[in-house]
Amino acid sequence: LSNNSQLTAWLPELIYAGGRFQSDLAVVSDGRTGRVISLTRADEIDSAARVVRLPNRALLPGMVNAHSHAFQRAIRGRTEVRSAARDTFWTWREMMYSAAERLLPEDLYDASRMAFLEMALSGITSVGEFHYLHHNPDGTPYDDPNLLSKQVVRAARDVGLRVALLRVAYARSGFRAEPNPRQSRFVTPDADTFLKHLDALSTDSASEYDASNDRPATASGGAAAVARGHGITDEISASPVAWAGVAPHSVRAVPLPYLREVCAHARAKRLPVHMHVAEQPAENEACLAEHGRTPVRLLADEHLLDERFTAVHAVHITADEARALAGAQVCACPTTERNLGDGVVPADLLFDAGAGVALGTDSHTQIDLLEDARELEYHLRLQKLSRAVLAPLSGSSGGGQDAADSSRPAAAQADDEHTHSQISALAARLFGCATAAGARSLGFDGGELRAGAAADFFTVALDDPSIAGAGADDLLPAIVFSLSRAAVRETVVGGRPVVEQSRHAAQDEIVSRFAALQRRLWS
Ligand SMILES: [Zn+2]
Repeated sequence: LSNNSQLTAWLPELIYAGGRFQSDLAVVSDGRTGRVISLTRADEIDSAARVVRLPNRALLPGMVNAHSHAFQRAIRGRTEVRSAARDTFWTWREMMYSAAERLLPEDLYDASRMAFLEMALSGITSVGEFHYLHHNPDGTPYDDPNLLSKQVVRAARDVGLRVALLRVAYARSGFRAEPNPRQSRFVTPDADTFLKHLDALSTDSASEYDASNDRPATASGGAAAVARGHGITDEISASPVAWAGVAPHSVRAVPLPYLREVCAHARAKRLPVHMHVAEQPAENEACLAEHGRTPVRLLADEHLLDERFTAVHAVHITADEARALAGAQVCACPTTERNLGDGVVPADLLFDAGAGVALGTDSHTQIDLLEDARELEYHLRLQKLSRAVLAPLSGSSGGGQDAADSSRPAAAQADDEHTHSQISALAARLFGCATAAGARSLGFDGGELRAGAAADFFTVALDDPSIAGAGADDLLPAIVFSLSRAAVRETVVGGRPVVEQSRHAAQDEIVSRFAALQRRLWS
């Protein structure tokens, strides 16, 4: 290392690394690159490093929210009514459009900052923003076609989160459907225009975020990764702060030739591709009518389901379709899926098939990715009337059904050890969905604490009532199944504190501006 003066050693009571909680360990981050330099024993910390002691804290890798529509934070609490004889996703969508059609650029910034603040306060360090508001409310383009995308990126960077701006391609209301004027802010009718706007966003992001982050442009990774034009580098070890991806909205909204062109471009540029897939039965039916195949079958036949592809939701799929998704990622959004009545993501089928499962807070009914992690499991428990459904099966066990039985005699030492590893395997899998799987989905090296990865992490207070009494062996399941969001104390992104002592420096201003926006929008 040429310059040790920017090293920080974070020294909490416990660190979750290598699949377990460890004590007497520090995470050493480099302020220049924003990456982890090493995990170091407490008595071997480099003397040049600044030591940040975090007593009574456990430190975990930052969570990655792989699917967000930040502006939908503005409709929270305004859709819990029955607006038709039978209220569904489609009636909810009308309420969502009423906000989407009225937000001005600065409003979008204020609503997005509110959502991102709440993410930071809950231990989320990176977000994939599935962004589909592009034009003026009357459908005419802004002078800068990326004006609204940039408002969202600016909001994320001002709060301090890493952001993948997944720019949405939206061509039509649906197969043989009349244009819907309520979607006029979303629509880019042809793929060439869409790709021109996407490339402009990547180029602009590069110059803006090189200038605004004070890392030298010559540093490897970090700023340099963004400067290469598309934000995602050939080497997965880079840790960009803002980059672009593509998001063909759904098979409903994007006709096949358009989809092919956008995905070919993404593949050439190695960008992540996100798409809503099989969220609603009506979407599958329309796809069958147009293509004679379900959405997953269509995408598989088009050879689009590679490791850069994330299918968001994948609720209404068969076991065969889960296997077709094995080479890709799925992003489940359980708190939204239960709110909208979408259905249950068959995560058991997906894990059996070998697909990666990331998590997203999507409509922001709640912003608490650990709640999404536990709901991924709990929805299946309710459906199957059994427990620990997603626990990986170990060779010597018949299943995880007894895993939570704490009344066993102490003499059954070997059994107890086995039981603990079973509990941890389930919690570790769910926590992996909230962290490493999300990073893979967004295409950056993070979600784990190890040398070279993004220095993104959060801490929880070990004396918070929701997890008090947990030790190294039961802390992860306590956090995954029981943590109150109020227990999150510090959130650090790229080695820089974003939240300290459960507060964000701009919290009051962000909240008051958002409250003013809500009064304007809804009074
Ligand atoms: Zn969505």
